[in-house]
Amino acid sequence: MSVNATEPWDLIVIGAGAAGLFAAMTAAERGLNVLLLEKNRRPGVKILMSGGTRCNLTNARGLRSLDCISGPIDPAISPAICQGVRAIQSAFTPDAARFLAPSLKAFDVDSTVRWFESAGLPTKIEENGKIFPLSDRAADVLSVLETATKRVGAKIAINQAVTGIAFNDSNNTFEIQTTTDLHYAKNIVLCTGGKSFPGCGTSGDGYAMAAHFGHTIIDTKPALVPIVVTADWVRDLKGITLPDVLVKVVSPDGQITDQRRESVLFAHFGLTGPAILDISRGLARLGALKGWHLQFDLVPDLKPEQLDQDFITRSRQGRVTVGRLLPESLPNRVKDQVLEVCGISNNAIAAELPKEKRKLLIATLKGLNLPIQGTLGFEKAEVTSGGVALSEVDPKTLESKLRTGLFLIGEVLDIDGRIGGYNFQAAWSMGRLVGQMV
Ligand SMILES: Cc1cc2nc3c(=O)[nH]c(=O)nc-3n(C[C@H](O)[C@H](O)[C@H](O)COP(=O)(O)OP(=O)(O)OC[C@H]3O[C@@H](n4cnc5c(N)ncnc54)[C@H](O)[C@@H]3O)c2cc1C
Repeated sequence: MSVNATEPWDLIVIGAGAAGLFAAMTAAERGLNVLLLEKNRRPGVKILMSGGTRCNLTNARGLRSLDCISGPIDPAISPAICQGVRAIQSAFTPDAARFLAPSLKAFDVDSTVRWFESAGLPTKIEENGKIFPLSDRAADVLSVLETATKRVGAKIAINQAVTGIAFNDSNNTFEIQTTTDLHYAKNIVLCTGGKSFPGCGTSGDGYAMAAHFGHTIIDTKPALVPIVVTADWVRDLKGITLPDVLVKVVSPDGQITDQRRESVLFAHFGLTGPAILDISRGLARLGALKGWHLQFDLVPDLKPEQLDQDFITRSRQGRVTVGRLLPESLPNRVKDQVLEVCGISNNAIAAELPKEKRKLLIATLKGLNLPIQGTLGFEKAEVTSGGVALSEVDPKTLESKLRTGLFLIGEVLDIDGRIGGYNFQAAWSMGRLVGQMV
């Protein structure tokens, strides 16, 4: 069938991202004639830029066994890390985790890795269980997906930005208008993604299309996004990574509402790195951030008493400066900043430091406060929190409960997960399930 056929397609998939490519391929494999419409001049742009252009395609915590991985496995990873799809679910909100259960059951992490491996993409496991292509090239991930989709006969039409969808009751057909063409379909899968990184095509177009059929759109917020803090000195530390920080989110009334232990990166715009990005998901749901702050435990393995005792013992061993007694795990520029925050000179003699200053120093190492100013917004968010309400979509079929023949998958839904390959796994699994269900 030509792309502009007036005969309706069995299925039109709107959005050739991670979810859409898998949906189109799976449906075409079953013999359906499938058209995949993409706004950009090529499919899968977000796949190409993902994981620092390496594409962290899923996470080993979701595996049942490590056997399906053909490439190297980080020595710190043992089979005990494998907890099955529950580990994937735990990276999402409880509602999203429940919603994802049938998709993850239909296409679990082992099946996903096996699919990519047998399509010609060897994989490897890095620290924290992140699974990447062995080649470190996101382009290879996209290439195997595109090849497989075309091989089973699904048509990919590029430069086709969908501007509206209507349902024609007289012939039970969807009419899909793009900037240049009108297409007809018996079924549609809406997978236009969220509205983060709008420059790569995801500007939230799908929300209006879903709302047209009566769907509720849960307020959208940027998530997995760098955080801006009011402390100017953070910018001076740009380029420094702290591999192991316990980051806490503290409310205006002093409650710890969230915490994450991972690496943190100082940047010219503020803070990023896995701990910060994960923490930002919770902030997205808070709305106004006035009075909230981040608290860094810079030495999470050491108790304050240990630090104090160690400081006292070592300060008695000659005229050592305070700077030299700070934990060696911290880069010098971070040590200097901690001392500055405490109003202590780097050259102060440790043995001469007043007790209250020593206590302040230890309290700062264990709880450096950084008032939150905001986030970098949708422009720099890896995912979108919010979207089409999950209660209006059947998780077993991914079909709309409001319009027969309309299916919704991927980030256009109110689903966003932690960093580490979880978001792609959700997209692959939903794409696979919907392709079997249409
Ligand atoms: C910088 C960055 C890095 C990331 N790295 C990772 C990672 O390493 N691991 C991970 O798990 N997740 C990562 N993510 C998140 C991941 O990319 C998304 O969760 C995932 O792509 C969502 O898949 P999707 O198919 O729902 O949407 P998308 O992949 O965003 O695809 C939606 C597609 O729909 C198209 N579209 C939109 N509107 C229209 C329209 N009107 N008409 C036609 N087509 C339209 C878009 O152009 C796009 O191609 C990253 C995200 C970003 C921004």
